[in-house]
Amino acid sequence: MRDFSQDHRWLSINTATIRKSQGADLPLPQIIEACVRKGIRAISPWRDQVAAAGLPVISRLVREHGLALSGYCRGGMFPAADAAGLHAARDDNRRAVDEAAELGAPCLVLVVGGLPGALQGEAAHKDIALARSQVRDGIAELLDYAKQARMPLAIEPLHPMYAADRACINTMEQALDVCDELDPGRTGSLGIAVDVYHVWWDPKLQQQIARAGKERLLAFHVCDWMTPTTDLLNDRGMMGDGVIDIPRIRGWVEAQGFAGYSEVEIFSTGNWWRKPHEETLDTCIARHRSAV
Ligand code: ZN
Repeated sequence: MRDFSQDHRWLSINTATIRKSQGADLPLPQIIEACVRKGIRAISPWRDQVAAAGLPVISRLVREHGLALSGYCRGGMFPAADAAGLHAARDDNRRAVDEAAELGAPCLVLVVGGLPGALQGEAAHKDIALARSQVRDGIAELLDYAKQARMPLAIEPLHPMYAADRACINTMEQALDVCDELDPGRTGSLGIAVDVYHVWWDPKLQQQIARAGKERLLAFHVCDWMTPTTDLLNDRGMMGDGVIDIPRIRGWVEAQGFAGYSEVEIFSTGNWWRKPHEETLDTCIARHRSAV
């Protein structure tokens, strides 16, 4: 297992972590500059932030600073209530692949979606099996396109509390079943984003990380699980402040040969997004050394 205690060369910042500074929106160009000033070598940007600044602007900044990406957030949201919705999702996901390629991302992260309409407050139906079959079909179709663009797809299993509105793939096992069906040759074109926030509780976690192996382990996201958690989406903790044994999970991932970035992904309306972003970055660096 790599020693992270001496430096932060394997730290990546998911740009949502400092999308707000003291409660105010921080535009992506400023996020990039702040990371560069702290000697951070990699980021994982969000599509809405890239769109707000303009893809050419961000692409140029990434290249000028020699930044690496640890992923691109995100594609997915495959299920829909009708054919038009499915087509719209397909087209949007293809654009996400193109953007990821333009930015030089190593993978496009997929948050696959749940019951159509649920995220907007009213689910169109209650058939989660249908949603899961649309997810499977959507990934299959996108995979053909992504292979042409040489852009690996990373399915991110989300904690089951998000099954209705964000992702109906909720365990590593479920995600790997899709990978094995659609990419039986383990070509590297389809794999998993392991986010400790979503999977730390899973009794099969170690076993499924081993099943994934190096070819399928495309990204590693860290933050912590607070007790109590006060918000289902935006109360992620700083590494070391909660109950996740992050070094143990990183050890399992690295035992398979994963040697990529450890990406800090914190959504925190009540705490970290209220602080100056420099302080949040300094804390990420310190905890990367001591708690990851
Ligand atoms: Zn994540």
